[in-house]
Amino acid sequence: MKQSVTVYCGSSAGSNPRFAEQARCVGRLLAGAGVEVITGAGATGMMRAVADGALSAGGDVHGIIPRFMVDNGWQYDALTRITVTDSMHARKELMARLSVGVIALPGGVGTWEEFMEIVTWKQLGLFGGNVVLLNPDGYYDPFVTMFAHGVEAGFLKADHAKLFDVATTPEEAVSMALTTTPKHFSPKI
Ligand code: AMP
Repeated sequence: MKQSVTVYCGSSAGSNPRFAEQARCVGRLLAGAGVEVITGAGATGMMRAVADGALSAGGDVHGIIPRFMVDNGWQYDALTRITVTDSMHARKELMARLSVGVIALPGGVGTWEEFMEIVTWKQLGLFGGNVVLLNPDGYYDPFVTMFAHGVEAGFLKADHAKLFDVATTPEEAVSMALTTTPKHFSPKI
């Protein structure tokens, strides 16, 4: 069976055209590595770019989306497979359960929340896969600074700042997501 990697990213494309280019590239590279891409199934912005990159390279994209978003017509029908969940929480749990690693690309609060949740699960030992933050053009610099600030202020242990890897290129992000021996999401949650 193919390994899967979840890509969290914006439903918007952002103002820098390099963000969507890098999203397409991440999709292409994962497909080229024989890895299934899991997304939130959105038909717009960065999410669409990741899916188009993977599909154009002959890869598989599995979209996982809550029913209310399908009711709003937000799903991307071109995906290889779509799973509809009852809630946002069920969606995120299933994404984690199926993934050997995750990559967060630029996005808004939805993406930040997904990234912070998986980092929290990793901290608690609920998720054992690789967590990668792709930081093109320094978009996530304030995030990285916030982790260092948390360590300095005594709210994060130094090890907590190592819960995720920071990549600057799509190649690096994909390689980091796939390097170590992955452990699947534990059913403890
Ligand atoms: P954001 O980074 O705020 O654009 O949010 C990205 C995340 O928000 C996605 O993973 C979804 O949880 C959700 N989301 C927001 N808009 C859409 C959409 N049009 N289609 C699918 N998911 C969406």
